[in-house]
Amino acid sequence: MDDWDDDEPIKLTTVTFVGTASCTPTDDTDTACFLINGHVLVDCGWAAALTMLSRPEYDATMLTHVLLTHCHQDHYMGLASVLFYRAMQSARIESDRPLIVAGPAEDVERIVDLTLAFIMAERLGERCPRPEILPLSAGDGLRAGELDIQTAATRHPVPSLAYRFLDMDTGVAVGITGDTAYMPELARFFSGVDLLVTEGSTGLTDPPQERAAGHQSIRQAAMLAKAAGAETLTIVHTDMRRREEFERVAGEIFPGVHVPWPGEQCNPEDRSVEDY
Ligand SMILES: [Zn+2]
Ligand SMILES: [Zn+2]
Repeated sequence: MDDWDDDEPIKLTTVTFVGTASCTPTDDTDTACFLINGHVLVDCGWAAALTMLSRPEYDATMLTHVLLTHCHQDHYMGLASVLFYRAMQSARIESDRPLIVAGPAEDVERIVDLTLAFIMAERLGERCPRPEILPLSAGDGLRAGELDIQTAATRHPVPSLAYRFLDMDTGVAVGITGDTAYMPELARFFSGVDLLVTEGSTGLTDPPQERAAGHQSIRQAAMLAKAAGAETLTIVHTDMRRREEFERVAGEIFPGVHVPWPGEQCNPEDRSVEDY
């Protein structure tokens, strides 16, 4: 396993679909969460530290950042597994830098504090240092190695952020919406991304925009990708058992669509997808 080298810049070369399910894990996948080059985890599923191990080259000791799109349980519960795993494997963490946990300003500090309390971090001592908390509001940006990361608000019952990642070396861009009702206005934020990762929670049912309960359909996901001029679309946080049907329906609107398997890895630069 490669260890994270402090001097090694974070490169945006791979997006690993650690979990892909909506709200509740199924027998083959955790809830939606993604790993960018093994170091930046976007959302935590129910048990990200466990599900990350489905790929032998990664584990939670390699993380530099955890970015939460929002603080619904299916997106943050696995933070406990990440922090406890890192405590149990602390001897293998070479970096002195604390893990950075970023997320919506309204909730992120509370979630980190509750998680530390839940795992009784005080009993773990210095093996479980407090993460550095980075509260974000829509429009805020941050840097992670070579990645420039921008944020935008999504429409969801709790404060919620979409992220756009730009590799400043290669110009490769990846967008991740997290949970959201259909928001055509996000097309500008995601304009020209190489890979758009978005949700399709309501499947083939298209919620009307004005009455949407914070989620979008497969077709709406495809419409967003088309309007943004994305190169590739992956749809997650949906009924993954209907993968083929959803790819066919979304493909009528946006041909470059893929519903990923858990553990799959996508290289946005050459658009290759590696099954695992
Ligand atoms: Zn969710
Ligand atoms: Zn949610």
